[in-house]
Amino acid sequence: MAVVIDTVGAASRPRHPEKANRPDQASPSKPGWIRVKAPGSPGYMATRDIVRAHGLHTVCEEAGCPNIGECWEKKHATFMIMGDTCTRACAFCNVKTGLPGALDPAEPARVADATAKLGLAHVVITSVDRDDLDDGGAAHFAAVIRAIRERCPQTTIEVLTPDFLRKAGAAEIVVAAKPDVFNHNLETVPSKYLTVRPGARYFASLQLLQHAKALDPQLFTKSGIMVGLGEERNEVLQVMDDLRSANVDFLTVGQYLQPSRKHHPVMRFVPPDEFHALEAIAYAKGFSMVSASPLTRSSHHAGEDFARLKAARVAR
Ligand code: SF4
Repeated sequence: MAVVIDTVGAASRPRHPEKANRPDQASPSKPGWIRVKAPGSPGYMATRDIVRAHGLHTVCEEAGCPNIGECWEKKHATFMIMGDTCTRACAFCNVKTGLPGALDPAEPARVADATAKLGLAHVVITSVDRDDLDDGGAAHFAAVIRAIRERCPQTTIEVLTPDFLRKAGAAEIVVAAKPDVFNHNLETVPSKYLTVRPGARYFASLQLLQHAKALDPQLFTKSGIMVGLGEERNEVLQVMDDLRSANVDFLTVGQYLQPSRKHHPVMRFVPPDEFHALEAIAYAKGFSMVSASPLTRSSHHAGEDFARLKAARVAR
């Protein structure tokens, strides 16, 4: 039986003990259009040193993101706050599952300092799910936003939050801290939630996005899905309509890649021309900004995309 090991840290501890007894799931070979820049450039190493020196986690590493070579070369890292252990066990995700430790009250200052050292004009902050906390970690998100505002007043801030399921008042706390972008990923179409994202509820995620916008209509809202998990095209189009009904401004669509053979298999590699078609349809449905390509990820080119998003609002 294959053991799912931590490919990020040096240790060979089991990374996903909750998935260890699942059968191996084969995915088709990666097509030629999934090509990424290998990590290791001087810029990549400089980013890695800053992340390490500040004792921070990044979703770039924890999720095994294919864009890490490109992003880190440009010193674009996405910080993952509240630890490296998630209370959920989604079938697509490479972040490890378990009972997380206590929150680190010094983390907001370290995130702010790392943001300054990296010289980020736009920073993306995400987190593990913290179902163990009464507020789901909302107050910690707010503390990180405030610390960055104080240390880097010119930097725009994007939060990519958990769903705050059954955490009444959490969205209010995060929105009150005034991020520039409130992002929460639907991840997949509703019919796949039970197998892909079993701890989440599709309509709760949708309502979170709608609620965030209602709390602050000036806030940009953003969401994303992966394709290649077995969804039907019409289901993707329905998700677009649902997100527009929730007044979401920005949609990202990317190819799902299987982190290990214990994770959900890739059912299909969606060719680039289908992504182009989805992008055109999404714009036609009224999104202000759409990014759809095989290697699109929520935080990929987030700074440039935020500038385009703001310009699109002004143009409207
Ligand atoms: S796309 Fe996002 S998660 Fe992936 S390496 Fe770039 S910044 Fe990190």
